[in-house]
This record gives sequence, structure tokens and C-alpha cells, in this order.
Amino acid sequence: MAADEPVILIVEDEPAIVELLRFTLKESGWNTVAAGTAAEAREFMQNRMPQLILLDWMLPDQTGLQFLSAIRSDRQFNELPIIMLTAKSMEEDKIAGLDRGADDYVTKPFSPRELTARVKALLRRKAPEHAQSLLTIGDVSLDPGSCVVCVNDQKIDIGHAEFKLLKFFMSYPDRVFSRSQLLDKVWGDHVAIEERTVDVHVLRLRKALKDAESLIKTVRSVGYMLSVK
Ligand code: CA
Repeated sequence: MAADEPVILIVEDEPAIVELLRFTLKESGWNTVAAGTAAEAREFMQNRMPQLILLDWMLPDQTGLQFLSAIRSDRQFNELPIIMLTAKSMEEDKIAGLDRGADDYVTKPFSPRELTARVKALLRRKAPEHAQSLLTIGDVSLDPGSCVVCVNDQKIDIGHAEFKLLKFFMSYPDRVFSRSQLLDKVWGDHVAIEERTVDVHVLRLRKALKDAESLIKTVRSVGYMLSVK
């Protein structure tokens, strides 16, 4: 797994459930990392931002709720999509979890299909650039699973960085992003590259898109956007 690939963090201490989750999510095209304790999860998150967390209700070193409160009070993890996993189906527990900032809830035992559907729905809602569904705008289609981009049904050659950039733009059509926002969202916090680099990749992306290059608009003194208009 490359350092910039999206990853789902599973915080769960029961090995059988971890296995089931990893298998289920892998089938749907996601990378996963498992942490058996809250401390392990925090350690992972110091080095890498997961795209979503599946969080068990009871962990050996903390309750899931304590862990949830702790990460929600950290500005960096404010917006991170989190689904609570629990054997409890009590209404009060659900409310407690949602109150402290969980986005959704799955009760064990869960069906793999239900879990996948919840993960997809949450990512679509909170981070559409990480949903693994086919994106189509104008004459351009992008398949996140196979990493294939087509313009007028013809496969094009596109570099890794340009692919990520295009995927991000296609996830948020008609929205303007500054260079620093693009660096942050597409390349992540943990890389140090200059804002000028964004211009270079936009240039390459337009070149790769050929006839569809006008999809990527320069918004003067602000940044870039993707729009069919
Ligand atoms: Ca547990």
C-alpha cells in the first residue's frame, strides 16, 4: 500500500471481527489497517490520516466513546468519518455515540453487505473523493477501481498525480479550490511541496485530457475548478 492511498482504520480488539472487516472492505477496493487498542490507533493517526474509522464500542484500554470524544476534540480529526461498531443495540447507546460525534452506527452481528453500504454512503456524504464509484462528467469518465480515465470512451494516458487531481475535481464539480487547498486535499498534510507544483500538475492534466481540457478552469487569483459550463 502506497503512503498516499486511502486507508480505513479498524479499531477493534476481536481478531475474528477484524478479519471479517478487512476481508469485506478489501473486496470493495479499500485498504485497511487494524489497531487493537485506542493507543495503537492514535499512534497510527499521528503518522497518517485515515479516510474513515470503524470504531468498536469496547476496547481494552478505553471505551470507544472516550476515544471518539478525544479525537473529535482534536481539530485535525474533526471531520473524519467515523462509524461505531457495537454489540449493543440500545437506543440510549446509539444516542450517546452520535452525540459525541459518530457519523453512523452498525450493530454487531452485521452483514458485510450492510457494512459496505454504510461505509460507501458515509464516504459519499463526507468525502466523495474516496468513494469507489465510477465518476462521469461531460465526456470524461474515471473509474477509481481500475484507475482508468476515458475521454469520449477512449482510454487516455494519465500520470498518478494527475489522476488523483482529476478524481478530486470530479468529486466536487463547480467548486473552486485554491492551490493550498488542493495540496492539502489531494497530496495530504504530510508532504512538503510548493504551491507552484499544483500549476504544473494542472497543466499536465489538461494536456492528458486533450479535447476535454477546457473542463479544468482557471479561476483568476483564486485557483482552479472543474466545470462543464
Ligand atoms: Ca471490543
